[in-house]
Amino acid sequence: MTVDLYKILEVSPNASPKEIKGAYRRLAHKYHPDHNPGNAELEERFKHVTMAYEILSDPSKRAQYDQFGTVRPSGDIGFDRFGSVADIFEFFFGGGFGGGPFASSRRRPRDPAYSEGEDIVETITFELKDVLTEQQVTIKARRLEVCPECHGSRAEPGTHPTTCQQCRGTGMVSSTRQTLLGVFSTAAPCPVCRGSGQIIESPCKACRGTGVTARDRVVDVTIPAGVADGTVMRLAGNGNAGTGGGRNGDMLIRVRVKPDPVFEVDGPDLLAKLPMAYPELVLGAEVVIQHLSGENIRVKVPQGTQPGDVISLRSRGLPRLTGGGSGDLHLQVELDMPRKLKQEERRILTSLLELNGKKGMLAGKPRELRKPQII
Ligand SMILES: [Zn+2]
Ligand SMILES: [Zn+2]
Repeated sequence: MTVDLYKILEVSPNASPKEIKGAYRRLAHKYHPDHNPGNAELEERFKHVTMAYEILSDPSKRAQYDQFGTVRPSGDIGFDRFGSVADIFEFFFGGGFGGGPFASSRRRPRDPAYSEGEDIVETITFELKDVLTEQQVTIKARRLEVCPECHGSRAEPGTHPTTCQQCRGTGMVSSTRQTLLGVFSTAAPCPVCRGSGQIIESPCKACRGTGVTARDRVVDVTIPAGVADGTVMRLAGNGNAGTGGGRNGDMLIRVRVKPDPVFEVDGPDLLAKLPMAYPELVLGAEVVIQHLSGENIRVKVPQGTQPGDVISLRSRGLPRLTGGGSGDLHLQVELDMPRKLKQEERRILTSLLELNGKKGMLAGKPRELRKPQII
């Protein structure tokens, strides 16, 4: 799930600041808790609308959100850390507004340019046979890097941020309220500088005041043999750049392994069906099969093998990611029953039936049934 702040405000991504302001006023009025007492759902929407407006009404935050949107991970298995409006908000405002289990352990960033880099997710797709050996992969990734012009300060080179007049650089404003129970004092992040304590009057032109620029990079990675579908490898510090002392995000490489048309995967083991003719099962046979690797392997099918029996070939499965060695290849024997017979085959089978004395059974006493085995 991804969150679209523009959708929340019901405006297009090209909306002017005036349109955004207008949309916010309209929606905030519509969803305001005072107008909808006791409606938790609308209250939540009111919060989301307010959060979206906080970001989109700030030119540098909006630019960063726009830029970020192009490289935002689009995974479907839980890597999208922007899964909620609160996540986005926390990303832009450093957790100062958020609750959550880690909120108290996080120090309020003092650097106005502080932000932690987001992780980026890249997906690589393998055929199952690729998993048999180690793979060298080149990944092209777009990521945010520290702006070379302002070095992440967000201010145009040669200019300096000024101290916020509203909060005198503290980043917090307090208000007092007189109630029947006494005077209450509450502190909140400064709305003018958004808690940074500083105002950037001339934002860096190269990065539009975001402190970061998008760059295309090529990363070479070695993927070990035996990697399973859904495995995620983490390249620490290779994600989007943090600014103002914030750490870089990581690059998460998600491995997808395409299903093979023949071989099924069960951990390190491979499974396949081995079709055999009736005489081969009755008499026993030696057959040649093609392994996933392309190699031809001889398989001995013992005399009297039943359909459903499994023949296991040790260490012919996939390499184990840890601990070395390989899994096994399990071949489930299947009876390959012909639908058509040649005349010669019909003659031989008929005489086999006569030899076994079964001819005419259909007209004689009923066949003995057996109790089915419920698995
Ligand atoms: Zn810059
Ligand atoms: Zn301030």
